[in-house]
Amino acid sequence: MGNFSRPTCLDDALRNMENGSWRILAGGTDFYPAQGDRPITENLLDLTAIPELRGISQLDDGWRFGGLTTWSDVIKASLPLAFDGLKAAAREVGSIQIQNSGTIAGNICNASPAADGMPPLLSLSAEVELVSPSGTRRMPLDDFVTGVRSTSCRPDELVRAVHIPAVSTGSRSAFLKLGARRYLVISIAMAAVLIDSNDQGKITRARIAVGSCSPVAQRLIGLEQRLLGESAASGLSELVTGGDISVLNPINDVRASASYRLSAAEELVRRALEEAVRPGVEAS
Ligand SMILES: Cc1cc2nc3c(=O)[nH]c(=O)nc-3n(C[C@H](O)[C@H](O)[C@H](O)COP(=O)(O)OP(=O)(O)OC[C@H]3O[C@@H](n4cnc5c(N)ncnc54)[C@H](O)[C@@H]3O)c2cc1C
Repeated sequence: MGNFSRPTCLDDALRNMENGSWRILAGGTDFYPAQGDRPITENLLDLTAIPELRGISQLDDGWRFGGLTTWSDVIKASLPLAFDGLKAAAREVGSIQIQNSGTIAGNICNASPAADGMPPLLSLSAEVELVSPSGTRRMPLDDFVTGVRSTSCRPDELVRAVHIPAVSTGSRSAFLKLGARRYLVISIAMAAVLIDSNDQGKITRARIAVGSCSPVAQRLIGLEQRLLGESAASGLSELVTGGDISVLNPINDVRASASYRLSAAEELVRRALEEAVRPGVEAS
């Protein structure tokens, strides 16, 4: 049986981490199911009593989501339209009980190919802030998750926050997920889209990410570039081609075949693009 510690401030957590190796525990909604009936032998460092790790704030250069921010916190927050995709993903994470406990850091650190938070966070150009007893560092989310269940987080580090660069008021976003049933389901495929446009309605930035169709959620960079200068209006989906989707590398598993996943991803990207440019969307 390992040790259990539940510090109430970050400094105490970091002091703990100087002595021995600790497994970070947030909401536990990935950790405990993976543990099953096996006894816990690791030292557990529970971060849930550290208020400074939780909450969403607007900074001069963007938005800061504390690592311990729960999916319910994301859903309830008043955020610009650019975050609609992230909010839609938050509503898809398990059930309300799971959303009340599950955190943004836990989702990205668990590094599941089916993590619902990944595509919208990639579309928002998220950066991950890591802290250890020896200092802090920041890296793009694209570099943080390196493979299935694999991240750049060192054993002596924890995720303090996820940063989103400033979003323009004209940014629109969408997230769509396909599972074998409507609710409480691991995704077969999902797509997140973020579109910025200028006063003439032309696209100035497009970010499109697909999850559950490769070891790590992946951006469709070719499509993103092709959309630049196009009208941010109905019909955008017609510009998506099978070639855009061919950069994905899905697996066959019990949930779906690889070819079904590719078809689903293409359709989800098309629908998410149309949703993101649909007029008259109000902030949620
Ligand atoms: C019934 C059920 C349904 C679910 N449905 C979905 C779903 O639909 N979509 C989805 O994406 N996920 C789903 N999940 C998975 C899970 O709820 C989410 O991934 C959640 O965001 C995990 O957050 P957590 O705080 O509970 O992580 P934890 O379980 O506490 O931790 C997960 C991993 O991340 C590490 N970790 C946590 N926080 C930090 C940190 N700050 N720094 C460094 N490492 C850290 C832990 O050591 C652990 O390895 C479901 C889980 C359950 C039990």
